[in-house]
Amino acid sequence: MLKLKLHWQILIAFILAALFGYFIPEGVRYVSWLGDLFLRALKMVIIPLVFSSIISGVTSMGDGKNLGRLGIKTIAYYLTTSTLAILTGLFVVNIVKPGVGVDLGFSKTVEGLEGSAGSVKDIFYRLIPENIVDSMAQGAILPVIFFAILLGYFITRTEEKHRQILTGFFDAFFEVMMKITLFIIRFTPLGIFGIVSAEVSRNANDLGAIAGSLAIYSLCVVAGLLFHGLVSLPLIVRYVGKARPYAHLKNMTVPLLTAFSTSSSSATLPLTMEALENNSGISNRISSFTVPLGATINMDGTALYECVAAMFIAQAYGVDLTFVQQMLVVITALLASVGAAGIPMAGLVMMTVVLTAVGLPLEGIGLVLAVDRVLDMIRTTINVWSDSCGALLIARSEKEQTNIAVS
Ligand code: ASP
Repeated sequence: MLKLKLHWQILIAFILAALFGYFIPEGVRYVSWLGDLFLRALKMVIIPLVFSSIISGVTSMGDGKNLGRLGIKTIAYYLTTSTLAILTGLFVVNIVKPGVGVDLGFSKTVEGLEGSAGSVKDIFYRLIPENIVDSMAQGAILPVIFFAILLGYFITRTEEKHRQILTGFFDAFFEVMMKITLFIIRFTPLGIFGIVSAEVSRNANDLGAIAGSLAIYSLCVVAGLLFHGLVSLPLIVRYVGKARPYAHLKNMTVPLLTAFSTSSSSATLPLTMEALENNSGISNRISSFTVPLGATINMDGTALYECVAAMFIAQAYGVDLTFVQQMLVVITALLASVGAAGIPMAGLVMMTVVLTAVGLPLEGIGLVLAVDRVLDMIRTTINVWSDSCGALLIARSEKEQTNIAVS
């Protein structure tokens, strides 16, 4: 039988699903369960995978100095690339000015926005769990990461006999979680078929909006995202990380296609970790630490999107933002991207933070609502791509050879 590589299977599933969802929407209810089951299975492994992987990674680091160094490098990478992405978006939106002269009449109403406005303080509060079991049950990744780092670190501080037992246990547990993940990954084409056909049939009516008044705005977001993903990040990988960016891109096809189809960095997380370790040859020590953290707080695509959307809304309302206000947009877009959860449309909700900061009306979100779902797919792909470039860069800075180093 013809044995296609997994990423080809996924691509074919994607195209067939899009056609199916568009032309036979009434048939979608017979296949959408495939997508639901797949997403459930991915969510099932996220917490135990992240938990065991971080503990196994941190204990293999040896001492606190290594952990601190890795932490600083990781955060520095996140801040640099997200800011770069925002500035790219700001540049595009200031040149093209997609919002000038837009008809405010096509705005859609959004309900319950005031209640969902997050604050910066919340982001820090969310880090430390009141009850770790509750955080795990809720699927909240940040507190789980925090607790796992502490647990891993203090395992290395206990006496030899305890340390050996616990390190061995979590290493073994992580191995098993990886095996389960690999098993689930085999079903990705079926899952994607279910997800994409359902999404296409649900949003088919909005496709007109992309072609209509929102076309220029969408093009600005997409152009910014593509530039960041295909030019800026590869240049950093090539010249700072001394690795081959497009070989890395190819290695990441499965997680990237999944991010595109699911619009969720969190759901993609198990696939990202697997591809980094098995395809690009990055050690668990690095990927276990950088990827779960990245999936939650490093969102270059979302950051760029927040900036372009806020500027678009300002232009549409005829508000001329000063340089200082634009810088405020940059900073709040960065914070909003850190605070956004790795789930579909989280970025749209976080937009309230940016709009409030510069005094724009929250109803402005209604302007960009129609195309959010499609732009979400692309920005999530860039979010995951940036996480994987970060892992590669940090691995290279730790002198790891990987499979794609430039010799
Ligand atoms: N869907 C995005 C993600 O999971 C977040 C966003 O809505 O921008 O990465």
